[in-house]
Amino acid sequence: MRKYSAFAIAREAARHHSGWERAWRSPAPKPSYDVIIVGAGGHGLASAYYLGKNFGITNVAVIEKGWLGGGNTGRNTTIIRSNYLQDPSAAIYEKSRSLYETLSQDLNYNIMFSPRGVIMLAQTHHEVRGYLRTAHANALQGVETRFIDKHEVKKLVPIMNIEGPRYPVLGGLWQPRGGTARHDAVAWGYARACSHMGMDIIQQTEVTGIKREGGAVAGVETTKGFIGCKKLGVVVAGHSGVLAEMAGFRLPLESVALQALVSEPIKPIMDVVVMANTVHGYMSQSDKGEMVIGGGTDSHNNYTQRGSFHHIEETVRALIETFPMLSRLKMLRQWGGIVDVTGDRSPILSKTPVENMFINCGWGTGGFKAIPGSGWGFAELMAKGHSPLTAEFGMERFREGRFIDESVAAGVAH
Ligand SMILES: Cc1cc2nc3c(=O)[nH]c(=O)nc-3n(C[C@H](O)[C@H](O)[C@H](O)COP(=O)(O)OP(=O)(O)OC[C@H]3O[C@@H](n4cnc5c(N)ncnc54)[C@H](O)[C@@H]3O)c2cc1C
Repeated sequence: MRKYSAFAIAREAARHHSGWERAWRSPAPKPSYDVIIVGAGGHGLASAYYLGKNFGITNVAVIEKGWLGGGNTGRNTTIIRSNYLQDPSAAIYEKSRSLYETLSQDLNYNIMFSPRGVIMLAQTHHEVRGYLRTAHANALQGVETRFIDKHEVKKLVPIMNIEGPRYPVLGGLWQPRGGTARHDAVAWGYARACSHMGMDIIQQTEVTGIKREGGAVAGVETTKGFIGCKKLGVVVAGHSGVLAEMAGFRLPLESVALQALVSEPIKPIMDVVVMANTVHGYMSQSDKGEMVIGGGTDSHNNYTQRGSFHHIEETVRALIETFPMLSRLKMLRQWGGIVDVTGDRSPILSKTPVENMFINCGWGTGGFKAIPGSGWGFAELMAKGHSPLTAEFGMERFREGRFIDESVAAGVAH
């Protein structure tokens, strides 16, 4: 792999950009691998990358039914933060956020990490109490975040109306090193690094069955034939229930559509990310100038990867009291993704009833921020059978009643 550098750009500029090589190979599948990861979203690719980087396991295939990054990873609103309430969550999300800080250098690929700061608005007294509690918990966990009053909020976001009649802004939970990154670039950067390590990323290939021998995984049936493996990692977000059914067990999660929209591009007006969970909307400004806006999930389970009109109206209507300028903006486009939501709103990173088959899912509406940390922990779980980062996120917690309750922090927004 040729390194990307200022020198490389100058060299290619001098020869009309004829020397760039493809970022990743597109090989035909081999008959078998040490490890197969199903799903080339951010979590699947990061898991493969850290298997290679941290454990030297490179005889790996990542199998993707569409194109890499084409699932939720390429459809999300890219909010990154780590101020969750419970200790296991804070640990994995903060590991992830800290990996994001240097991910561009690590991957030699500009993922455009922008730690511009994230405010979660408190617009009811209940929210103020909740966020104060989270701020105290985060102080104990070593996560940098603090509660700010409404005047500080107004200073950070001058376009905001903090005296709305229905939901005045009372303050906010502020994480100064939270922010955004370019979603596709995260997937592309990991894919390039995996390919460079000799791993095979096999796109346009759907896994249609999981073969077991004597209770252990033996390989996967795909639209390109059978591929054997010693270990299998299933990382398919909204389709996790479908893959679990292929292996003969059920997962405690629901698949629902989550959607987002962007406005026409405008001059820079807001340089932080704002989430308003009471009214159910959140917004940031992209580098192109578009206002990137998201809302809640559909109220019914489904697999339709698209948006619906009533959500645009509900989400924008909700935000207009706090951001009156939105009423003058044209909305350009909307889209949707299928997210996998667990009962306690925390992910599942776990062994399964099938020996040597592992599952990474349940990131719901907020897993983009978790990609590097999840990949780090899941790779360790697959390589060693145990990881301190994932230990609390086993699927058996639902049977044992050991929930990691993040319903306020993660179930609604991101
Ligand atoms: C509109 C929207 C906004 C969001 N906003 C945020 C946000 O601001 N911040 C945040 O942290 N998170 C956000 N999220 C959530 C985040 O996008 C997801 O949690 C995360 O991207 C999940 O990544 P993944 O790699 O697990 O899944 P995906 O990126 O969905 O990858 C799974 C892959 O598996 C493939 N697959 C499925 N079935 C098969 C099969 N049978 N064979 C082969 N391949 C298969 C799919 O094609 C897909 O590419 C948002 C999600 C949406 C939809």
